[in-house]
Amino acid sequence: MRTSIAKQFRWEMGHRLPNHPGLCRNIHGHSYEAQVILVGEPDESGMVMDYFDVKTMVQPLIDRLDHCFLLDASDTVMKDFFTSHPMKVVEIDVPTTAENIAHYLLQHIISQLPTSHRIESVKVRIYETEKTYAEVAQELMH
Ligand SMILES: [Zn+2]
Repeated sequence: MRTSIAKQFRWEMGHRLPNHPGLCRNIHGHSYEAQVILVGEPDESGMVMDYFDVKTMVQPLIDRLDHCFLLDASDTVMKDFFTSHPMKVVEIDVPTTAENIAHYLLQHIISQLPTSHRIESVKVRIYETEKTYAEVAQELMH
């Protein structure tokens, strides 16, 4: 039977949305939470995927993001600042919204799936606050 498993990850990260008309254009941060949801048929041992393997797949990216500033590559103000003040920065090519962070994690997870896996669908939900989240999902071909 098609079954979902999920694991949660937390990290702290700074960002800003340079073209946002409101408060989000300011430098600020969030305690982010990601829920990674994997859907598939459990194997003979009754597992969709070992939770340990889920952590092995996802945690390195979370560690890379933790306490970094997530930089939108088009944000030249911040880019100039970090050039003269080197800090932990991760650059992405799109605005650093929860939607795009969810997509960024999703792509990473799909690229890290072991060659023989039984995952039919991957979902990532990103909580920027307790009350707001963005979710992306992708069906995988077998
Ligand atoms: Zn924000």
